[in-house]
Amino acid sequence: SAVRKVAVVTGANKGIGKAVIEGLLEKTSNTIIYLTARDTTRGNATLHELLPVAELTSNTLKFAQLDVTCDASTKAFYESLKSDHANVDIIINNAGVFEGELEQVSNLDEAKFTLGVNYYGVKRVLETLKPLLHSGSRVVNVASTLGVMKGGYVTYPEDRIKQLSTAQNVSDVDRFVEEYLELVAAGKAVEEGFPKNAYSVSKSAVIAYSVVQARELEVKGVYVNAMCPGYVATDMTKHAGHRTPAQGADTAVFLATDPDVQFNGVFVFDREQKAW
Ligand code: NDP
Repeated sequence: SAVRKVAVVTGANKGIGKAVIEGLLEKTSNTIIYLTARDTTRGNATLHELLPVAELTSNTLKFAQLDVTCDASTKAFYESLKSDHANVDIIINNAGVFEGELEQVSNLDEAKFTLGVNYYGVKRVLETLKPLLHSGSRVVNVASTLGVMKGGYVTYPEDRIKQLSTAQNVSDVDRFVEEYLELVAAGKAVEEGFPKNAYSVSKSAVIAYSVVQARELEVKGVYVNAMCPGYVATDMTKHAGHRTPAQGADTAVFLATDPDVQFNGVFVFDREQKAW
C-alpha cells in the first residue's frame, strides 16, 4: 500500500485554520492530518467536532499541541512527527494574531507580540519541520493583502519596498523585521516608512520570507507560497468579514493539494498570483 501523506495545520482550532482542516478532509485521501493548536482543550474540542467528518473519509485526523511562539512545543512536535513518519507533505502556517486597529500605531508590546506569532512563528515552524520536507511537499503561509507593499491598503516608500522585495535570504527578512522593532521602540517606525499597524509589517515579512524559502527549497522539490484568504468572518475580524471560513480556506487548500499547481515563491489570492 502507498505511504500515507502527512499534513500539518497551525492554529487549526477555529476560524480559517479549522476550515483548512475541513478542506483537507474533503480534498485529500489517505492523509494523516494534524490539527494543531496552542491550547490542548480548544484543539481537542475541535478535533472531536471534526472526527465524525474524518471517519467518512480515508484520512486520519489527529490533534497535536503546537504553540508557534514556543521552541519547546515546536521541537516536541517535530520529534513526534519524526518518530512516526518519514516525511511531511503539507504544512499550512495559518496561526496568526491581530491587535488594535489598522489605523492605530502599534506600540512595542503589540509589535513584538504580532511579529512574534505572525512572522517568527511561521519561521520557527518551517525551520524546525524543514528536515521532514521532501520532493513534492507544499508549504502554504497564510499572509494577507494587508501586507502587500504597494497599491494596496498600505503603501511603503520605495526604499522599504526595495529592501524587502530584493531580500536574498532569511536574514534579509529578519533585518527588515528587526529594524521595524527597533524603530517602534524609538517611536519612529511610521516616519521611517513602516505602516501604522504591526500586522501589515508581519504579513509583508511573511510574503518575503515565503519567496526566499521557496528559492532555498526549490532544489529539494518543495513548493512554498504565501496567500491571502480575503476578508473572512472569524474572531479575528469580530465576524465582520464577508467571506465564510471555507471561502477563506479555499486558496490555501488549493495550493496545498491541487496536483496541477505551478506556483512557487509567489503571493496568491483567489487562486491567482498577485503582485505584492
Ligand atoms: P482567528 O483569530 O479566528 O484564529 C487564529 C488562530 O491562530 C487560532 O486558532 C489561534 O489559537 C491561533 N493562534 C494564535 N496564536 C497562536 C500561537 N502562538 N500558536 C498557535 N496558534 C496560535 O483568526 P483567522 O482564522 O481569521 O486567521 C487565520 C489566519 O488568517 C491568520 O494568520 C490571519 O492573519 C489570516 N488572515 C485572516 C483574515 C480574515 O479576514 N479573517 C484576512 C487575512 C489574513 P487560539 O484560539 O488559541 O487563540
